[in-house]
Amino acid sequence: MKNRKPLMAANWKMNLSLDEARDLLNGVRSAKIDFNKVEVLVAPPFTALQLAHALLTETDILIAGQNMHWESKGAFTGEISPLMLKGTGCSHVIVGHSERRALFFETSDIVNSKVDAAIETGLIPIVCIGETLKEREDKKTFDIIRTQLNESLKTNCKKRNLPQSVILAYEPVWAIGTGKTATPEVAQKVHLFIRRWLIENFDNNTGETIRILYGGSVKPDNIKELMLQPDIDGALIGGASLKADSFLSIAKFYES
Ligand code: PEP
Repeated sequence: MKNRKPLMAANWKMNLSLDEARDLLNGVRSAKIDFNKVEVLVAPPFTALQLAHALLTETDILIAGQNMHWESKGAFTGEISPLMLKGTGCSHVIVGHSERRALFFETSDIVNSKVDAAIETGLIPIVCIGETLKEREDKKTFDIIRTQLNESLKTNCKKRNLPQSVILAYEPVWAIGTGKTATPEVAQKVHLFIRRWLIENFDNNTGETIRILYGGSVKPDNIKELMLQPDIDGALIGGASLKADSFLSIAKFYES
């Protein structure tokens, strides 16, 4: 029996016009969700954050930024700061998504700076890690995950202290947007590895408390099995979060 409350997080990526965003937000907010059983979060593009804040303000649905800079202000054209996210109603921020790492050259060092800035600003970071197909085929999955964790959480590892609100997301790169989900057993093995890493680097309590989400082609028809795994505490959902009905049937996995 898991004591950790599941979290279902929608990563909209660079999708949806304002009108489409409004429709989706209205669909999600009008659903009957048992918030005793699940936390629900949406991460719209920056342009829809204010709208999300306005529409979700009287609900229990949480809002996240998809990315941010680590400085609080300054000459960083095109960037957005932790304070700006906070001021727009975000409680969380996704950092180190594999698309940021691969397409925008974000290193684990940068991710570490973002994690530090998020924590300092009072935002909860959702820290993404995951191996590529080549790394998996070369049997390097655990080495890659360990290195990404050591480097992306470097400051906290040095302090041997990790706020228990921090969230990790294991997202095998080969499963993102490809329709290939890691089998629940394959995902569970990595989640257990991550939990053991937390215990080694922090303590038992941190290992038992931190939530580890799975991400990679999560759909209504695979969420239940994934959630039966002892170390999977929710999901980060891309494609299937863009339609209210598919996102909601994932978020309400507890009903099936
Ligand atoms: C993601 O972008 O975090 C993701 C898991 O995408 P998808 O669900 O589309 O694979």
